[in-house]
Amino acid sequence: MSIALVVNSGSSSLKYQLLDASTGQMLASGLVERIGEERAVTTHRVGDEKFRSEQPILDHGAAFAVMMGSFLTHGPDINAHSPKVVGHRVVHGGRRFVGPTRIDDQVERDIDDLVPLAPLHNPANLAGIRVARAVFADVPHVAVFDTAFHTSLSDASSLYAIDAETARKHRVRKYGAHGTSHKYVAARAAEYLHRPIEDLKLLVLHIGNGASLCAVEGGRSIETSMGMTPLEGLVMGTRSGDLDPAVLFHLSRQAGLGIDELDTFLNRRSGLLGLTGSNDMRDVESRAEDGDQVARGALDIYIHRLRHYIGAYLALLGGADAIIFTAGVGENSQLVRAESLEGMEWLGIEIDPERNAERSDEERRISTDSSKIEVLVIPTNEELEIARQSFEAIGVEA
Ligand code: AMP
Repeated sequence: MSIALVVNSGSSSLKYQLLDASTGQMLASGLVERIGEERAVTTHRVGDEKFRSEQPILDHGAAFAVMMGSFLTHGPDINAHSPKVVGHRVVHGGRRFVGPTRIDDQVERDIDDLVPLAPLHNPANLAGIRVARAVFADVPHVAVFDTAFHTSLSDASSLYAIDAETARKHRVRKYGAHGTSHKYVAARAAEYLHRPIEDLKLLVLHIGNGASLCAVEGGRSIETSMGMTPLEGLVMGTRSGDLDPAVLFHLSRQAGLGIDELDTFLNRRSGLLGLTGSNDMRDVESRAEDGDQVARGALDIYIHRLRHYIGAYLALLGGADAIIFTAGVGENSQLVRAESLEGMEWLGIEIDPERNAERSDEERRISTDSSKIEVLVIPTNEELEIARQSFEAIGVEA
């Protein structure tokens, strides 16, 4: 078995999964939430069983100890299923990291050097890496970067039209995000279509709480909607996505908001949450169905932005072989899928309403047999992709 432990360490959470990278079989997964609080919550899952506990967990070291304790108490025996590699999700790899990278002290320093570009995420990722390297000292550790898949973007797509020297000095450019998911989903789509990815033009819509599109040509990302940070692009659960940057000057002058308040405002209190009071698409959809005009209005904004990007990316790609929906909303919301591609028959996009309405966890086609552009739903699996890339980085076949 090719067992990997995949670690996603956030500022107040630790997500983990023990899995077999060759088969994709998950052996256990878990989440430690509210790290730093007296009542942190741990959920450990093995098969259909779920174990929940609450205790004070003051830092990532303690969170890791609780994770190890969960394996010991609830299984599986992590010594019997000892990981051959530990894969870490790292949000920002800048221009430095173009693929999965085996972690040593220098790599840790390089990730640290990128903290100004991801001030919340990279320190949290590093905290997890440091603890995990101490706990699993004899196992190779690999960093898999959210940005790596987008290092193929051209300057034309990733440079902003601002003073070039200032941009260079402060590393201001588009880096994108969700790269692990976009890469995984694009590869699965090629398999589903039984075609080499090198021949394909794909448009991947990763729409979850965070959301981004990626135009993939020949297996390479050529455009993506998140920018220097994950704030740019689509309307998301709590992020605004695109807006005129002058809104910030205006709010600073008129509402007296400081930089940190503006950051919180746009990243945590906007998007569906700002528009409706809920960041959960299920709530927004059911309220809209019940006639709530505020919820319906929010959906209109959300869908309008998606359609705007779909059109733009089809132009950049010069057509597409397939459009693929993934992540929480993309995999589950027939309404968002239907409305975002409605009336595009002239482009060769025809959704089959019955296929679209089917609920399933499987990879599937939701376009008609005659649709020129295939429309697919492909569940993402970032943990499996991280596990596979981690084996790739240590030169071992999973
Ligand atoms: P993710 O970040 O990929 O976990 O996606 C989370 C988002 O998926 C949330 O906004 C959920 O409301 C949304 N979601 C999950 N299930 C459904 C569903 N059945 N219909 C609409 N949205 C859903």
